[in-house]
Amino acid sequence: MVEIEVLLNTLKKYWGYSSFREFQLEAINSILDEHDTLTILPTGGGKSLCFQLPAMIKEGVAVVISPLISLMKDQVDSLKECGIHAECLNSSMTGKEQQLAELNVEVGRAKLLYISPERLLTDSLRALLRRVKVSYFVIDEAHCISHWGHDFRKEYRALGVLKEEFPGVAVHAFTATATPEVKEDVLSQLKLDSPHVYSGKVDRTNLTYRIAGRKADGMRQIVNIIERHPQEAGIIYCLRRADVAAISSRLEFQGLKNLPYHAGLPDKVRKENQNAFSKGKVNIVVATIAFGMGIDRSNIRFVIHAAMPKSVEHYQQETGRAGRDGLPSECIMLYSGEDASLWEWIMAQGNDGEMSREKLDKLRDFCETPACRHASLSKYFGQDYPDGNCGACDFCLGEAVPLHDTGNTAGTIIECVLELEEKFGADHISSLLSGELTEGVRKWGHDSLAVFGSLGNSSKQRIRGKIEGLIKAGKLAREGAYRTLSVTAEGLTSAGISRSARKIIFSGSRPAAPRSAAPAQRAIHVGPEKLFNLLRVKRDALAASAGVAPDVIFNDATLMEMSTKRPLMMDEIGEISGVGEEKLEKYGRIFLEAIKAGLNLV
Ligand code: ADP
Repeated sequence: MVEIEVLLNTLKKYWGYSSFREFQLEAINSILDEHDTLTILPTGGGKSLCFQLPAMIKEGVAVVISPLISLMKDQVDSLKECGIHAECLNSSMTGKEQQLAELNVEVGRAKLLYISPERLLTDSLRALLRRVKVSYFVIDEAHCISHWGHDFRKEYRALGVLKEEFPGVAVHAFTATATPEVKEDVLSQLKLDSPHVYSGKVDRTNLTYRIAGRKADGMRQIVNIIERHPQEAGIIYCLRRADVAAISSRLEFQGLKNLPYHAGLPDKVRKENQNAFSKGKVNIVVATIAFGMGIDRSNIRFVIHAAMPKSVEHYQQETGRAGRDGLPSECIMLYSGEDASLWEWIMAQGNDGEMSREKLDKLRDFCETPACRHASLSKYFGQDYPDGNCGACDFCLGEAVPLHDTGNTAGTIIECVLELEEKFGADHISSLLSGELTEGVRKWGHDSLAVFGSLGNSSKQRIRGKIEGLIKAGKLAREGAYRTLSVTAEGLTSAGISRSARKIIFSGSRPAAPRSAAPAQRAIHVGPEKLFNLLRVKRDALAASAGVAPDVIFNDATLMEMSTKRPLMMDEIGEISGVGEEKLEKYGRIFLEAIKAGLNLV
């Protein structure tokens, strides 16, 4: 049994962190005790550290099987920056590079070796692993082994041989996918021996979920969301390649730099686009679900689904790419009943074996049921969610409306009148609801309200007629010199609203306060922004000249802490979470100088 102090010292020395997250300690102890392990933690839960830290304590080399070369490279770069000797072997390396990596494994210099499942099955690699001491095997992204998973990889199936060929060496599987089928499949395929299983909470407290009815093609809503995240990273998921091309070029036309990504693009272009995003050279990617596993940029601040995703599992995975650094981030789905019909059509064509009516119905329920999104997601994955207001979804923030209610024209008009605090007349309100960009709408900034265009299917005249009808029916009143509309008691009752407890019920983006997060995360401020931005520029420049992803140097959470605590001495900067010994030595002075320079400006 390794003392907790030893583990905490190792954590601080190499990673610069001072405490473990949920289940990290359990998973680390299980690895140190040589029990087979399956650890299920959500994206951003800190899985890598669970299998990297024991490698620094155990004798030998830990062999990590990872599905993608880009993932391996980022992990090896990150470990090197922490002062840990890690190697990888893959087809993108030259013969010489591979020989050197093998030598470092052979002589016991490397503490971790990253390889693909294909590589593990080669005779030469197995021969190498028999000559050295393997401390344990790790199967990263273990859901790839399962047909039930969303990223099935047939090469992963062969990993069952590990327990036979390397008896006595423990195998530890890690994944973020928590469905019972996947879990059972991983355990049985890998033939794990009396494994310890740790399942963390699937809930991502730092993500704010919103589901809004899509208005027209959704472009205006997408642009609004992007505009409230200046210089921040985001992914826009689309259902079809053609939508990717259309949205990408329209954003570009509006001066919003972005790159497309889908399976129809040439391999080289896809790699370049993914690389540009990972390295922080571009902040927005418009993609189909093909854009997936290889992205481990930790500061993705928003994920937009321009249409309904494929299943709740896909939604969880895709939104899970936001906010891996634990900082507040938002996920917005633009929903339309048409999307479900399109998925139904795809299913009917038999083009997608993974789809099922049951999954589609569950997703539709998730979208249309007015309930806390955090609670619904937890429930879907079989976990309880404590009662109460999450403070981080459209429902609990009081923004959501049951999506099938959006056809309720009278209710929508009444809500709009209230939303505008009963200060506007029938003409303005009918322009606003029909989505007409009049001078008045522009002047008041009402085009950025969620209600803008929410009755876009009706003409302005029809809405106007409906307003007159509501006045006649005594639900609205016209008052004062400016002929402003107000809502009568009868109007409130008919719309099911109590004035005192009135909540804003329109779904969708709103101009202010988009960055709410769950209570647990509120302590992290986004600021002082100016210093943070200066540090970010410094970090990105260092990363670009070293040819590594910015996260490899410091993640945004570390920069944020620097910009709030403003350390001015080396020992103070060493206290910041994420500054281990090696990084303190290499970057401490550089960032101290940047903070001092920044403070003169602030
Ligand atoms: P996962 O693989 O589960 O998605 P990662 O391993 O990429 O998550 O970790 C997400 C982020 O959290 C990384 O920036 C990592 O350095 C950070 N992290 C991991 N463990 C801790 C910890 N104990 N304290 C603070 N940050 C941590």
